[in-house]
Order: sequence, then C-alpha cells, then structure tokens
Amino acid sequence: MRRLLPAAFILALWCASALMPARPPLRQPAGEHAAPPARHTASLFPGLSARQPASQPATEPGAPPAARVAPTIENLITTQRGDLPIILSAPHGGTVRVPGSAGRAQGVTVRDVHTAEIALLAAQRITSRLGATPWVVVAQFSRLDADANRDAGEAYENEHARAAYDAYHAALERAAREAAARHGLAVVIDLHGQRRIPGAMIRGTRNGKATDDLVARFGVGAVSGPRSIFGRLKAAGYSIVPDPVEGELGEERLFEGGYITAHYGTFMPGVDAVQIEMGSEYREDAWKTARDVGDAIAEFAQRYLLE
Ligand SMILES: [Zn+2]
Repeated sequence: MRRLLPAAFILALWCASALMPARPPLRQPAGEHAAPPARHTASLFPGLSARQPASQPATEPGAPPAARVAPTIENLITTQRGDLPIILSAPHGGTVRVPGSAGRAQGVTVRDVHTAEIALLAAQRITSRLGATPWVVVAQFSRLDADANRDAGEAYENEHARAAYDAYHAALERAAREAAARHGLAVVIDLHGQRRIPGAMIRGTRNGKATDDLVARFGVGAVSGPRSIFGRLKAAGYSIVPDPVEGELGEERLFEGGYITAHYGTFMPGVDAVQIEMGSEYREDAWKTARDVGDAIAEFAQRYLLE
C-alpha cells in the first residue's frame, strides 16, 4: 500500500481552513451525479495527481477533471496503512472510470458526493488527535463501474471492474485482519452519503449484529449513548438516526448497513463494523464534517479501543 498524502500538505490545508472562517462551503449539487465544484478530489489532493505524466483519464459525466494519472488498479483506490484499530472505508465517492469497463447496466450507480474527501480528511484529523493513524481504503473508481458495497455477484459486470472491486476488498480485508490481530478488536467505519434525510447522520450496524463484539465488551454505550461515535456527533450538533439515547440501541429502519458492514462486522473474527450515512446537507461543508467525524471517531477509539 502506498502512502496516502503528505501529512504536511494536509496540515497546511487544515491551517488554511482554520484561518479562513468565511470560506465558501463545498456546495452539494441537486443530484448526486451533478458536477461538484472545482475544489474536488483533484484540487483538494494534488498529491494524488502527480505520480505519472499521462493522458487524462475518463471520469463520470459532470465530474471535475481527474488527477492526471493513468488509472491502474493501484491508483483506483487510495489506501493508508494504519496503526490504530480503526479502518475508514469509503466505497462510493469515486469519479474515475475503470479503463476498459463498459459500466454497469444493473444496480444503483449514484455517487456519494464528497465522501472520499471526508474520509481522507477525517483520517488526517484522527491522526492529529491521537498521534496514530487509522487504516484507510477509499475508492477513486466510479460506482458506474463497480460497487464495493455489494456482494461480488452484483457488484460489477466485467473483468476490468472486477479487478477494481477485488483490489478494494483485498485492501480492506488485509487492514481488518492486521488491525484485529494487533489490537484484539478493530472497527471498520464505512462512510456513505444519503439524501433521504438531508440533515441527518444515519447509523447502520445491521441492528447490532455488526457491533456485537463492542456491545459484549463495553455495553450498548459503545454503539449508542453519549460516548459513542454518534453520541459525540449529536453533541456537536448533528441530528442522528436512530437517536443515540443512553442505554438504548434504537432500531435502524432506513439504512441498517450494507455489504461491507455485514461482511466485515459479522463474519470476520475480532472485527466490528459501523456504517455512517451522511446527509447531503452535512456534506456541503466537507471540511467541517470531516473534522467533526474525525473527532468523534478519535474520541471513541480513545475511550474504548486504546485503553
Ligand atoms: Zn453509499
């Protein structure tokens, strides 16, 4: 796995962000497929763009110009090796078309706008808070070609897209296995975007099945309640579904967690998983949301996983 981004570069971005309170928010387009502003992946993360001089890769219609990198399996996902028992996953924020893939004729292909950026920035925030790094697996490839949050049987329709899908899960599985082996319990946090309730963060744990290890060790307070990730986000002003009331798990009726949450949270020993479906309103200011999500995860990790 290659290194993610120069830490100094991101720190500089954070500093610049803090010094510019009037900065314009990243506007959420009306549809998840509409064009995001120029401050998107390529401009936020120029470090991703300068690896090889190459022709311009294809991106989704309306997406910003992609990094000037010839897409290969290695750079269709962004990974970071971690030393924390936290694995950040973002499978639906990518815009780069998989070379050779004709796309998917079946299934949902909507992009979760800004979730790739939020995952990368949240990872940097966690590192700055804890002095240790989470594992990161972020798709740069488009959901038009492969959906990493689906079972392989419905995730892709050609071999080119299959390679991207397989690379994503190979990275995620390796991260989960290594983190669990080192720490005893690791948590995959799968980041998504939803527009059903634009002003809500929606928890998905397969109604507790994917967080059974956390609950067994620490009680429901590790998943719901004020000291959970969602409790921290509630305290920071976010609306949470289900409401993270102390002592109650609440029922997940809207988004209970997709394939990644189920597969890693249920079937891998020593691994739990939590899905966060971030409302479109909260993704408008990706910088603020990434900071708040990063803080919530860092405080959760410190309280439950690092003692
Ligand atoms: Zn999604």
